[in-house]
Amino acid sequence: MREDVAAAHARRLASPKTAPRAGAIPLLPSQDTDDDRILNLSLRPKRFDEFVGQRQVVENLGVAIQAARRRKEPLEHVLLAGPPGLGKTSIAHIVAQEMAAKITATSGPAIERAGDLIGILTNLGEGDVFFIDEIHRLSKIVEEFLYPAMESFEIDFVIDKGPYAKTIKFRLKRFTLIGATTRSGLLSNPLRSRFGMAYHLDFYAPEDLREIVNRSAKILSVALEAEAARTIAQRARGTPRIANRLLRRVRDYAQVKAGGRISQAVAEAALSAQGVDAFGLDAIDRKVLKTVIEHFSGGPVGIDALAASLNEEPDTIVDVVEPFLLAAGLLKRTARGRKATRLAYQHFADLKAKPLELFAAA
Ligand code: ADP
Repeated sequence: MREDVAAAHARRLASPKTAPRAGAIPLLPSQDTDDDRILNLSLRPKRFDEFVGQRQVVENLGVAIQAARRRKEPLEHVLLAGPPGLGKTSIAHIVAQEMAAKITATSGPAIERAGDLIGILTNLGEGDVFFIDEIHRLSKIVEEFLYPAMESFEIDFVIDKGPYAKTIKFRLKRFTLIGATTRSGLLSNPLRSRFGMAYHLDFYAPEDLREIVNRSAKILSVALEAEAARTIAQRARGTPRIANRLLRRVRDYAQVKAGGRISQAVAEAALSAQGVDAFGLDAIDRKVLKTVIEHFSGGPVGIDALAASLNEEPDTIVDVVEPFLLAAGLLKRTARGRKATRLAYQHFADLKAKPLELFAAA
């Protein structure tokens, strides 16, 4: 019985986070191939001193971890918010490692019923880390079941039905919940208030991304020239996962066309071949901007209308595509919807003037 639940849980975990509609543009995270996902694991920083950037978050967490270890207590629950690929999962694993704790990882949509949680929670040891990715997608019932577990480390079992129903309290070991979310705005207040610490991860500066690309090149034994590292970093949408993905695509290109060495020219050519433009925008970014500009006269356009004309889920645009466009100043959010900025128009004018094939790819 327990195996059945575990197998169903594993199956749901393995299923894509958000299934795209038929004919939809593929989501950015799913651009990672299976090989990419395996490589991602080897590129994942294992300790805080390998984790580049996000200094404030790292410092604050470091202090909290040291204090908890001195008091020989588990760390308080931690909420990590920010766009995909910025290092939330990596931080959860590093925290577990620094606390010398075991980590159990799952995601909001994978926990369908409160019953799915019972097995996980009762198996957690003292101080263990329980990581829930996409925690904003927990169902209301599951979320409410989690409250007493987070607050007083106990859960209520209901056994039997009708007049014989009985509630039994079950004490849990004191664990640390680490929740990750791309949409902290969707988190309910009762859930948010049960986290002792909450941090927001921002897009990375190009210097940090350059360090990440150089570190990854070393791990992958790739010959990467300094200028090429800078180019990849500048076009990675402020996101380490994308920086690593671009590095792998450039590496493939260099292997086939340039004897394996990645010079600035090779990096430029490889990124253009991938449809990544000078701003780091890829085909879906340009498609979103072009749709706002051409179909909705630059906006404002509501997210649902925009998603419908792109044949895409609104969540994908809100979670994956628009955070960077907003941060880069290409898109603006107004009370009446999204608007393309003057910079967005300028960007397309520049693209038209220069590499035409990129514009056509959008
Ligand atoms: P998230 O959980 O926010 O989607 P991940 O933790 O899975 O992001 O990070 C994606 C990949 O990006 C990791 O496999 C790792 O290789 C890389 N990465 C993320 N943050 C950093 C960082 N600060 N330093 C080095 N590599 C990083």
